[in-house]
Amino acid sequence: AEAQLRQVQKMEAVGQLTGGIAHDFNNMLAVVVGGIDLARRRLNGPRREVMTHLTNAMEGATRAAALTRRLLSFARSEPLLPERLDSAKLVGGMSELLDRTLGERITVRTELANDGWPVFVDPHQLENAILNLAVNARDAMDGTGTLTIRSRNLKMTANQVGDIRAGEYLCIDVVDTGCGMTPEVKERAFEPFFTTKEVGKGTGLGLSQIFGFAHQSGGEVGIESVVGQGTTVSIYLPRTEAAASNVRTHPAMQAKSDE
Ligand code: ADP
Repeated sequence: AEAQLRQVQKMEAVGQLTGGIAHDFNNMLAVVVGGIDLARRRLNGPRREVMTHLTNAMEGATRAAALTRRLLSFARSEPLLPERLDSAKLVGGMSELLDRTLGERITVRTELANDGWPVFVDPHQLENAILNLAVNARDAMDGTGTLTIRSRNLKMTANQVGDIRAGEYLCIDVVDTGCGMTPEVKERAFEPFFTTKEVGKGTGLGLSQIFGFAHQSGGEVGIESVVGQGTTVSIYLPRTEAAASNVRTHPAMQAKSDE
């Protein structure tokens, strides 16, 4: 089931590629071809002009290469290696990294449930998810504001958030006091390659990777956002016992959950 989900996500990414990215890629190739063509015609003209056309071509090619690299790293995304872990400890261990990433003008607060339910997830993926959310929050706050990372134990009913199954979850909220999302942005935020950031700044892969991670861990992810006030992204992870029974069908994980 996990491999299937991964495949579906890849196909979705390919769909996005043919839709929007192929268009961007074509534009970059047009710059490359145009630059070389102009340089060729001006071979007997001023050197500086020829150089400008060649430099433009180089830049187009470099941008196209960066685009395919991003696509490849997305397609090759790391396999999950879940383990039983204490999220408060994990988030606590990230405080220095978070302070450094967010800078002095953003206050980082944590409100972590001490008796937070243990979860059964890949620690690197969870760290990556939180870091990605923190970076998004920083970008949304434009320098100053407060980032709060909060965790709580929740009993959820089926489909209370997204496709969530009824059960017990540890919920990790990443709350910012940033610009918020319009309904249109919120609607598309989990799409691979959807970004409102300028070229080179955003990849549009952060939230789609978190979506994949949450789903593959048997959980969900939800967004609450008010324009001008801020955004809360919530990751729901099934508490260990529930997670172990969710993934029991997967032979690679069976050995671990039976330990
Ligand atoms: P990226 O950050 O590279 O653009 P993401 O998938 O992480 O890719 O986010 C997609 C888009 O969702 C962003 O470009 C931005 O418009 C919006 N977004 C994500 N997080 C936030 C946030 N905390 N506040 C406001 N908008 C956000």
